[in-house]
Amino acid sequence: MSDTAQYLIRQEPFYQPLHEEVALYQAAWDERLPVMIKGPTGCGKSRFVEYMAWRLGRPLITVACNEDMTASDLVGRYLLDAGGTRWLDGPLTTAARIGAICYLDEIVEARQDTTVVIHPLTDHRRVLPLDKKGELLEAHADFQLVISYNPGYQSLMKDLKQSTKQRFTALHFDYADADTEAGIIATETGTDPALAQRLVQMAGAARNLKGHGLDEGISTRLLVYAARLLKRGVAPRAACRMALVDPITDDKDIRSTLYHAIDALF
Ligand code: ADP
Repeated sequence: MSDTAQYLIRQEPFYQPLHEEVALYQAAWDERLPVMIKGPTGCGKSRFVEYMAWRLGRPLITVACNEDMTASDLVGRYLLDAGGTRWLDGPLTTAARIGAICYLDEIVEARQDTTVVIHPLTDHRRVLPLDKKGELLEAHADFQLVISYNPGYQSLMKDLKQSTKQRFTALHFDYADADTEAGIIATETGTDPALAQRLVQMAGAARNLKGHGLDEGISTRLLVYAARLLKRGVAPRAACRMALVDPITDDKDIRSTLYHAIDALF
């Protein structure tokens, strides 16, 4: 039997609500509706799910999806050991058994034949067929499925099928407005709020370049990294280059534009 306690979040995660997402998620949870959280990388999607799991007192099982992931990685497989073969539940099966919130992070990364295993769990049946084991698992009453999805990476090759999308309710996330984002960085890292404001200004400059040489803007996550480097005594220009610019671009011209923006601000 899986140990439910290990998946419980014991301490309240810091989460700054941005709109009505807490109340909306709560309503979806009350109805056990599947939820899709859309938004750019590092904007607070995972933190929000952790916060909601804590608030609801439910275990949370997170799976980072990738293109090599198979349906068995989610559902489970037989293992060979000294005693013979033994079935091992995958994370999705464990979540359905114990009534956890199962969070499939970056679901578009998974192949479509993997994605379809969630279908029977997301309609009125709420079942998970374990074909190899010959079991039809009925999901626990508290089981809920949550997926995250970055519309920025959307392409014909990498998109969810309509038949998958239309099994979810959706919440749109984006970076917080400048003051709120600076507050998040200051609270998260203990950085001086005025310095946090300047980091956010820097992010604003880079976010304007999205679609003009940058695939993604600077995320809140990277701003938190920069603030942490500053707290360690790293000089502002070096911290910003290391945390905000160099991770997101290899293009020399864009890099030099962003370095100039840093020099103007710090
Ligand atoms: P995503 O899942 O969208 O890629 P995360 O949830 O991991 O991003 O967020 C990245 C980091 O940004 C978090 O670790 C946290 O430090 C910070 N963050 C972003 N939004 C918020 C928020 N609304 N409240 C608190 N922290 C946030």
